[in-house]
Amino acid sequence: TSLDDIKAKGKLVLGLDDAFPPMGFKDENQNIVGFDIDLAREVCKRMGVELVVQPISWDAKELELSTKNIDCIWNGMTYNEERAKSMTLSIPYMKNTQVTVVLTSSDVNTLADLAGKVVAIQNGSTASDAIDANADFKNSLKELVKVDDNVQALLDLKVSGSDAVVMDEVVARYYTEKEAGTYKILDETLADEDYIVGFRKGDKSLCAEVEKYLKEMAADGTLAKISETWFGK
Ligand code: GLN
Repeated sequence: TSLDDIKAKGKLVLGLDDAFPPMGFKDENQNIVGFDIDLAREVCKRMGVELVVQPISWDAKELELSTKNIDCIWNGMTYNEERAKSMTLSIPYMKNTQVTVVLTSSDVNTLADLAGKVVAIQNGSTASDAIDANADFKNSLKELVKVDDNVQALLDLKVSGSDAVVMDEVVARYYTEKEAGTYKILDETLADEDYIVGFRKGDKSLCAEVEKYLKEMAADGTLAKISETWFGK
């Protein structure tokens, strides 16, 4: 089974977009750290295997998984129907919303203010589902541009390459705190989401084992402890 394979190999290879703080990202010392990394490391410890982290392009995640370059995608990945068809997905372990980020200096305060303007999103991200679900907003835009990751999207915002970025709230909050005074998050949100872990289609025994430890860690307080490290309280 998929679980036997991982145990025989002695390691679980986790694929991530390493520009996705605080879920998984490179710190100043080039170490990959984050909430999902701590969760996965603890799950691997309980499984008796080593955790190996493998940065990937978010847009290529399905391919990285199917070609066996990685064993799972664990990186603030949102549940959607398309992913449920192409992968085996875990139970949800955290909630998120899609939010819109603009520069503090911008006169944009509502989604309606973005009519005729340029919005950027990450390639392969569910930000695109959130925009599709809000048709009036989508149709009001001048252009929807796609970039590789959110770091690039926020840089583009600073050099006026776009007027707003739609992205995961957890990441938006990380950057608004890190670069205080630079960005603001609009009050209106675009979608509520659940974070899940993705495995190769059919890797059910591996998925069930990870779920078992996720539940165990929720019950024994480990999840709350890791959550406090990255999100406070
Ligand atoms: N939550 C978004 C998605 O699932 C972005 C995740 C990410 O870039 N790591 O597509």
